[in-house]
Amino acid sequence: MKNILVIYTGGTIGMVKDESTGALRPFDMQKIYEVLPVLHELDCNIETYQFNPIIDSSDMNAQVWLKLASYIESVYSSYDGFVILHGTDTMSYTASALSFLLENLAKPVIITGSQLPLGMIRNDGRDNIISSIELASNQDVLIPEVCIFFDDKLYRGNRTTKINAEYFEAFYSGNMPSLAKVGINISYKEHLLLPKPQQEFKVYKSLCEDIAILKVHPAINPSHLENISNIPNLKGIVLETYGSGNAPTNKEFIAAIKNIIDKGITVYNVTQCKAGKVEMGHYAASYALREMGVISGKDITTEAALAKMMFVLGNFNDKAKQRELLQSNLRGELTL
Ligand code: ASP
Repeated sequence: MKNILVIYTGGTIGMVKDESTGALRPFDMQKIYEVLPVLHELDCNIETYQFNPIIDSSDMNAQVWLKLASYIESVYSSYDGFVILHGTDTMSYTASALSFLLENLAKPVIITGSQLPLGMIRNDGRDNIISSIELASNQDVLIPEVCIFFDDKLYRGNRTTKINAEYFEAFYSGNMPSLAKVGINISYKEHLLLPKPQQEFKVYKSLCEDIAILKVHPAINPSHLENISNIPNLKGIVLETYGSGNAPTNKEFIAAIKNIIDKGITVYNVTQCKAGKVEMGHYAASYALREMGVISGKDITTEAALAKMMFVLGNFNDKAKQRELLQSNLRGELTL
């Protein structure tokens, strides 16, 4: 029997009805079998660990990611898989950050949550938890990566974006098909899963928090760029550009970007589109960016780009190495 650890960080999923008041309150993770007695029927041992305090995922940050990664490291050898219950709002960011922090991961880490709390009669949390545990404990197919399970689909976590605040289909992965789909049976796309690593599991202990995200838009002006570049200690900017990596071509905008790069701030170009990739040089509107040394994020999401910059700039000091890593595919987060 596989041993699965369910880590409850907070979020909508864990809300149940208080019998005395009728109001929704966070559930006690140790009582997971009382809330979901059907878990007894799964062919695995389930243990639980609850954050103290549990948090709305809007309060997620680098320090919590580092603690979560270190906690997984401390219990890694005791479990065959991990299921993390997490709010949906920043789930894609957390999945991306963990994917970079947990190097040579050889066990499933499946993050899930829900749009409706477990305490509601109609909710998506119940199925999301059950299926996530089933996937993490599968005897035949090993999922050696950080995933998000939501609305019947298993996604590579660092490829996802939350796209819906209303319906159960809350996540989208425009540049990578789902890795498995749960229906009457679970159908895996095994050829898409990351290979089981040969090297030893390693957990990184540091993240750079001096990163900004800047979205290009028609009302942007050079003073916006200048103000951002004046943020004390700023090390990197995720530049969300149009389409295949395009930005305004006027010389003031270009000069402002050049000034940012001259200050030693790394600029990582990602597309605002939900699918497709940055191809700098395809249009004149991105040619200048490439010539100045802006780094292409190819088909990476904004969430993964932020996490990757935090990881790369936080753990490697050499500028050439940082550049090489940002352009490389480290955890399946971009297509070369
Ligand atoms: N605000 C909640 C959170 O992200 C929403 C959710 O769980 O879906 O923690």
